[in-house]
Amino acid sequence: MSCIGCDLKETVSQLDVHKLVEEQLELEQDLVSTKIREKRLNICCKCPSLSQHTCVHCGCFVEFRASLRQKKCPRDKW
Ligand code: SF4
Repeated sequence: MSCIGCDLKETVSQLDVHKLVEEQLELEQDLVSTKIREKRLNICCKCPSLSQHTCVHCGCFVEFRASLRQKKCPRDKW
């Protein structure tokens, strides 16, 4: 029996992720600046814990997590 969550992750493209994240971020109030978000995402992109679009430690799409002011990297990298 396969994991529904894993199957979904495998079929979500970069464009789908970006669209999903942008939709969710429209509901959020407390966002970081574009500069901080890019700085965080640059760290994620080089991190061995990034699996496609998702951090293996927190399960979040990093594009979403890195945009929220109150969120931190679960491994204290940002
Ligand atoms: S949130 Fe932290 S641990 Fe997760 S992928 Fe980004 S840098 Fe790595």
